[in-house]
Amino acid sequence: MPRGRGAPAGAETVGGLVARAAAFLRSRGVGEAAANAEFIMADVLGTGRCEVRLDGGRPLGSARRLRFRRLVRDRARRRPLAYVLGHQDFMGFRMEVGPAVLTPRPETEELVGEARRRLAAMDRRPRRRPASPSRRRGLAGGAPRRVLEIGTGSGCIAVALAKLAAAWKVTAFDISARALAVAARNARRHGVAGRVRLVKGDLFRLWGGRGRVRRPGRGFDLVISNPPYVPSRRIPRLAAEVRCEPRLALDGGEDGLDAVRAIVAGAPASLAAGGLLMMEIGHDQGAAVKSLLEGGGFGSVEVLKDMQGFDRIAVGKLA
Ligand code: GLN
Repeated sequence: MPRGRGAPAGAETVGGLVARAAAFLRSRGVGEAAANAEFIMADVLGTGRCEVRLDGGRPLGSARRLRFRRLVRDRARRRPLAYVLGHQDFMGFRMEVGPAVLTPRPETEELVGEARRRLAAMDRRPRRRPASPSRRRGLAGGAPRRVLEIGTGSGCIAVALAKLAAAWKVTAFDISARALAVAARNARRHGVAGRVRLVKGDLFRLWGGRGRVRRPGRGFDLVISNPPYVPSRRIPRLAAEVRCEPRLALDGGEDGLDAVRAIVAGAPASLAAGGLLMMEIGHDQGAAVKSLLEGGGFGSVEVLKDMQGFDRIAVGKLA
């Protein structure tokens, strides 16, 4: 952030710095510039955004001023705020994020919230097929329920589910070793490394693939994914921030549904009878994904809207 000579009195206070940073970010085309400046200041102060607003008159020491300016300059280059700060809150859990992973979105919190409700409902119902006596541990009368996640990225879905459903075990695949390293740190940070198994694997080879591929295995109660679902031709038109994110996590091929098709085709081999497939999908993909699921042997297919009223979550139950 350029420092004007003869800055007005109060310019080195929290409020003054935030106001100038907001104007600077706005001039660089950053959306919600004021909120971004406040979040950066909150991070520098180690407080929340409210305190930043309430404490506008507080002077900021030079070390913190320097850090604030460095982060604001970084954000002005249109790097996502979560990359600038190195973390992002997801379902109330602070997740490490960086350029190797997609930054968690609020829509994905809705996916996890929905999954959590359905896991709780499954916990209340006995399994269709009783578990073999040797596996009777964990839940009353059954083996621990298991979730399979495809394309875990930062691990936010896997870690949040493991935190929110303590009797569940999660196996999470990703093709990117760098993403898996981030996910492993997030699992450790939140104390669920023992219940989140991270495996390297290519979504397009997991189920039908040739050669030596780690297979997910069978008998999962839930397969969940936030797959890449943006049609390739739309990628160049995405906001500069989104284009900083891994293409692998965004690009769903010509119609955006390449990964969805692979998951719908493969998931039945990994699901228990009555198991669920839940995916985050694009805002205009509801009808197409519904027919893919119905054509792929899934029943009770639902497409749920996100908070903005767009198609966002597809759910199917293996008949
Ligand atoms: N919601 C993301 C976007 O901003 C896409 C995420 C994805 O492809 N899974 O476009």
